[in-house]
Amino acid sequence: MKRFNVAVLPGDGIGPEIMAEAIKVLQVVGKRFGVDFKLTHALVGGASIDASGIPLTDETLRLALDADAVMLAAVGGPKWESLDYSLRPERALLALRKEMGLFANLRPAKIHKALMGASTLKPEVIDGVDILVVRELTGGLYFGTPKGVEKLPDGTERGVNTMVYTTPEIERIAKVGFEAARKRRKKLCSVDKANVLETTELWRRVVSRVGKDFPDVELSHMYVDNCAMQLVRNPKQFDVIVTENTFGDILSDEASMLTGSIGMLPSASLGVDSRRAMYEPIHGSAPDIAGKGLANPLATILSAGMMLNYSFDMQDAAMEIEKAVEAVLNKGFRTADIAEQGVKPISTAQMGEAVVKEALHSHRTKP
Ligand code: NAD
Repeated sequence: MKRFNVAVLPGDGIGPEIMAEAIKVLQVVGKRFGVDFKLTHALVGGASIDASGIPLTDETLRLALDADAVMLAAVGGPKWESLDYSLRPERALLALRKEMGLFANLRPAKIHKALMGASTLKPEVIDGVDILVVRELTGGLYFGTPKGVEKLPDGTERGVNTMVYTTPEIERIAKVGFEAARKRRKKLCSVDKANVLETTELWRRVVSRVGKDFPDVELSHMYVDNCAMQLVRNPKQFDVIVTENTFGDILSDEASMLTGSIGMLPSASLGVDSRRAMYEPIHGSAPDIAGKGLANPLATILSAGMMLNYSFDMQDAAMEIEKAVEAVLNKGFRTADIAEQGVKPISTAQMGEAVVKEALHSHRTKP
């Protein structure tokens, strides 16, 4: 029996609730496909701060580095907001991404037909939307130096962050974008702000150069402000979007709302070394609904599906998870965030159970 080591980092807020459901689904599908997942849980973010004073301990980092893949739910919450930036729960995420070399974040935003009514946009605008946002994850404003806030002699303060990209950093993320587009509808839109920011003028030049090796992929360029507008005006024009860290963070949240809820969107963060990868929903720890059984676990469940696909080469099993989620939605099961008016929502655990039941059901009906 094949065995994979998975580091499980539930984190804070709704994290433990949604992770529990994803694990149930993973185990059922693993059993079905003859794979044993050795799951090792560890604390991260605020939970780690409470236990050991820091958001990411050396042991947790080691566990993540040694695992075949990492599943993370979410970190953060009001309890830790007054801490210094260097000690905040979110630092754990940045450190994991940096230490694991996770430079490519893949965020699919696909409309589920059954959820068309949950989006704030008109059905004719979103019907058929299937976008993949490829976000650069270890460069740009979030990591560039100098950074910080300093006191000036006149008593005022000065805050600085720096957007930095080198040619190799842009080349490798561009390649991920082109390769992803090649497997889809062969359209890549590179998003920048080349009319104002020199860094992204370099970005545009390098992406265009890499594009010469992918003549079968249609490359276009778009300014980020226009892209934000086009995503709500005519999202169907996009296949794959490749962009830098901050723009990708914002645009992928915007794209998520096309699908109705941020609680639906999974992500994969892939490393330079293909053995390193982390899978997490794109949403945060949702402290406003934590501990109430209100959270939607589907983004985390679909993230487990992405792990099967990208880390373990188990495309059929990944498809099984996607199909189970689709079936559950088609049957009308809804957590509060995606429930249409008049529909009684089910809890986080009930949604997890429903997906498990579908996965088991498809097992029984397989020829
Ligand atoms: P958030 O994504 O946690 O929540 C935004 C809104 O979406 C909230 O109303 C929340 O209830 C809702 N929501 C999010 N996930 C949901 C789900 N699965 N089901 C139903 N509703 C869901 O973003 P925020 O409120 O800006 O941040 C809260 C905390 O999470 C902060 O501490 C922030 O730093 C942290 N955060 C962590 C990550 C991460 O761990 N990757 C990402 C973003 C934010």
